[in-house]
Amino acid sequence: MTRSEELFARAQRVIPGGVSSPVRAFRAVGGHPPFIVRGEGSRVSDADGHSYIDYLGSWGPLILGHAHPDVVEAVREAALRGTSYGAPCPGEVELAERVVRLMPSMEKVRFVSSGTEAAMSALRLARGFTGRNKILKLEGCYHGHADSLLVVAGSGVATLGIPGSPGVPAGTVADTVTAPYNDLRAVEEVVSVHGRDLAAVIVEPVAGNMGCVLPSPGYLGGLREITRRAGALLIFDEVITGFRLGLGGAQAQYRITPDLTCLGKIIGGGLPVGAYGGRGQIMGRVAPEGPVYQAGTLSGNPLAMAAGCAALDALQRPGVYERLGALARRLTDGLAAAAKSAGVDVTINRAASMFTVFFGRGPVTDYASAKASDTARFARFFHGMLRRGVYLPPAQFESAFVSFAHTDPDLEATVRAAGEALAEVAAQA
Ligand SMILES: *Cc1c(COP(=O)(O)O)cnc(C)c1O
Repeated sequence: MTRSEELFARAQRVIPGGVSSPVRAFRAVGGHPPFIVRGEGSRVSDADGHSYIDYLGSWGPLILGHAHPDVVEAVREAALRGTSYGAPCPGEVELAERVVRLMPSMEKVRFVSSGTEAAMSALRLARGFTGRNKILKLEGCYHGHADSLLVVAGSGVATLGIPGSPGVPAGTVADTVTAPYNDLRAVEEVVSVHGRDLAAVIVEPVAGNMGCVLPSPGYLGGLREITRRAGALLIFDEVITGFRLGLGGAQAQYRITPDLTCLGKIIGGGLPVGAYGGRGQIMGRVAPEGPVYQAGTLSGNPLAMAAGCAALDALQRPGVYERLGALARRLTDGLAAAAKSAGVDVTINRAASMFTVFFGRGPVTDYASAKASDTARFARFFHGMLRRGVYLPPAQFESAFVSFAHTDPDLEATVRAAGEALAEVAAQA
């Protein structure tokens, strides 16, 4: 038994499935997850001494790579001053000022501890602000595991095939309407039926949780127009895309102004942070300024705020996003060429430094076309890569992430591994 297998056996005795979050259990690809004991730059090492080039990036936060020196130093310094106060601290102001300066639509921001909380709270606020109940979510988008959002959700829900989830009351979900991603006509239809009771449309402006799926030209603008007309709020869930696509997130890149924005992942520098924010007029309804209640014992935690500030400062140095984009382009070009020469049909979707290799002819533009991927082939590819020291997200319907710490030799080794792994996939077909 390897050390990881031993740990996994122990874990399964005391933790459901042996994991703290379902996709980590490798159910979608089979086998046992390596237990990670260390992360450094572009690499992670497991309990058995194997080293991997990491494209999981902790599912998105680690755009600077593991244990970035500025982030580690900021957390160390903060910890020496105490780990939590339950009272206002300067770090909250510092991170909030950075977020408000960099995200075009956000005038005020409230910190929470996860993306789930951010999306859940943004919905409550949208309902409280509009006095309406219904929300529209797009199929294949994931906004965390809050009850009303766990409907046709991507990510782990897609992988596990849980239709929503037991434990979510029908009454809660009754106010959630869904429509296919990238289909404005379906949104128009929903609005024509529910328009007067529609509080908000929530969307991943670039989807990351059905694999990476880009918005069609005009789609986000169409959502903006339709929601404005309906008197509903437009919520961009930028938990992945915020500070991933660029400093202003998807809203800067696509020049769309949502009413509310959810953030998470990168803004915590690898510590647990989420945030939601928007126009002052809407955020003014949040307690204690307004009546919409939302709170958190560890919200605005000084360690997390320090890590977030250090990460955002490092990301503002010149050339960071150019390098990230160039690395990711070179990698996906290499992967496409490797698939071609192995004779394996793949569709690679990429936005900035996030990408997915879908096993199928594509194009992949929504949840239905993503689900048409050959997940058995993906699983073989995944394990072929893992054996060769490349750690990809362990499921087809996820995005991989290139970090600032990846190097040219990392990319070359990855493409070489992919060539071999894809040849195995082709041979077993
Ligand atoms: C990860 C994610 C969430 C949930 O964030 P957690 O921190 O895992 O609760 C919400 N929305 C999107 C788009 C995400 O990718």
